[in-house]
This record gives sequence, C-alpha cells and structure tokens, in this order.
Amino acid sequence: MDLSVRFLGTSASRPTVERNVTSLAVRRGGETFLFDCGEGTQRQMMRYGVSFNVGEIFFTHMHADHILGVTGLVRTMALQGRTDPMTLFGPPKSERLLRQAVTLGSDKQHFPINYVEMTPGEPLVRQGYSIVPFSVDHGGAAALGLAIIELPRLGRFNPDLAREMGIPEGPLWGQIHKGQAVTLPDGRVVHPSELVGPTRSGRKLVFTGDARPSETTIEIAVGADILIHEATFADEEAPLAIETGHSTAREAATVADRARVKRLVLTHISSRYSRDVQELAAEAREVFPGAVVARDGMELVIPFDDADTLEG
Ligand SMILES: [Zn+2]
Ligand SMILES: [Zn+2]
Repeated sequence: MDLSVRFLGTSASRPTVERNVTSLAVRRGGETFLFDCGEGTQRQMMRYGVSFNVGEIFFTHMHADHILGVTGLVRTMALQGRTDPMTLFGPPKSERLLRQAVTLGSDKQHFPINYVEMTPGEPLVRQGYSIVPFSVDHGGAAALGLAIIELPRLGRFNPDLAREMGIPEGPLWGQIHKGQAVTLPDGRVVHPSELVGPTRSGRKLVFTGDARPSETTIEIAVGADILIHEATFADEEAPLAIETGHSTAREAATVADRARVKRLVLTHISSRYSRDVQELAAEAREVFPGAVVARDGMELVIPFDDADTLEG
C-alpha cells in the first residue's frame, strides 16, 4: 500500500517567487486528498502532476493562506464536468466560511459538496487507517493538526515453514495468516502462532498545520514515520512566533525530538527565508539532525518499517 505526500505550497501567509501558500497532497492506495488549499493550489496540482480526482479536502483552519484556493479549484472541476461529490472537512464552525468560499461569485453548484466540521480527537475511520484531527495552539484561531494513522498489519507469514509442514498453498495459508487455527485433511491442527510473526505497526503521518509547539502534538506524533511541522521563523524571531501563534524551526525540531519521530519536514516558511532556508535548517538540525525544509513540488514516499518484505 503506497503512502506519499507532495508539497504543493510551503510558504507562510503569502506566496513568493519560489513558494506557493499551503497545500499538501496525500496519496494512499490510489486515493488522493488535500490537506489545506491555499490560493493557486490548482495550478500547483497541474504543475506537479497531482490528479484533480480529489474527493476530500481537509482544512486545518480558516486563515486565508490555507483556504482561498478552494474557490478556483472547485470552479475548474465544475468546468471539467465533474459530477462526483466532494467533501470539505474543517475545524469546528468552519462550514459557513467554506460554503462562502465555494459559492463566491456563483450560486450554481455543479456537483455535490458536503461540509463536515471535525471534532478534535474524534478519528475519521477509514478502511485500514484513520484520519485524526487534533487541537493545536495557533494564537486563538480554531485550528487543528491532522494525523493519518494506519491500523497494525498482520504478522509475517512463513511460507517455507508452511510448505515444510505440508500445508497446501491456497486458502488455508490465508486463513492461518488472518489468525485462524485450521485443521488439515490429515487431522492435524495448525495454530497461527506456529506460522505467523507478531503484528507489525502501520504508518503514521502527522501534519501540524499552523501551530505553536505543543504537548498534544508530541503525544500524537510519538514514533511517527513523518512529522510535517510548521516552522515559520528562525531563532531571531522567536518572540514573533509566540505573538503570532507559529513555531520556530528549533521549536519544531524539539517536538520531533521529544516525540522520537523518524523524519521531520519543516514547512510554512516565512517569506524572508523563502529563497535561503539554511538558517532554519541549521537551527533545526542542532536539535533534530535529520530535519529537512520542504520545497514546493517535493514528494516524500513513506515506506513501511520492514519495506524489504511484502506489504500486508
Ligand atoms: Zn498559515
Ligand atoms: Zn494560520
């Protein structure tokens, strides 16, 4: 099962020559959805080959640099003759504003759009994974982070041993793999523990949206395969980060370090670092050595821990 993210916009507050405002395309198992949809996202999707066949957009909060792109994107989809429904998820009390953004300048709705206000801590349960919205501190705005948390996977099946034990390849293997004891034609009973290893963890991706560093983020990000944390400012603007409800690169790295995540990617970069992110990267790496700063178009594939073997 593939899982990847593509950064469609990595700039804070306003676009720059190098960077568009926030949007993240998440791909899992042939499905694509967006986290945030800043102004110009549709053009970034074209530029970086992201399918317009998006059924869901999740908004972290209602600041303009995260939502203005939905107006144009929905209009283009309508022009293309889309009939499939779309669902827009937002934080509490977001529906009115999202509805306004979608209908701006046009009363006609060409395809059905549903609005869902998410509740922090209440997972949206999908087949094999959940999307978990969590509260973040963004200077008083109703803001959420979003985590994709996969269910644990079945343990590894040992085909060599199964053959050795004379268990015919076929449906019996599947039953044993799924945890059922089976009786062989000769009367022997095989228990799953004889052939199947321990359950393996699924993957976890955490996106903070705009946020101060917080215990809630650390808690949900524990052991994450990837933490995408906003890092609007460098150390020298630490007071401004507090004032505006954002994080410095060093603060983001501290969250990553405390949550013991495997990878940290910084995004939502202030325009003053748009061209040269060395300062942000260096400060983050003093705390979390592997930290990288996202750039527009960057794609990250998130493999399973044990990716050398067959995915289950
Ligand atoms: Zn923002
Ligand atoms: Zn914001």
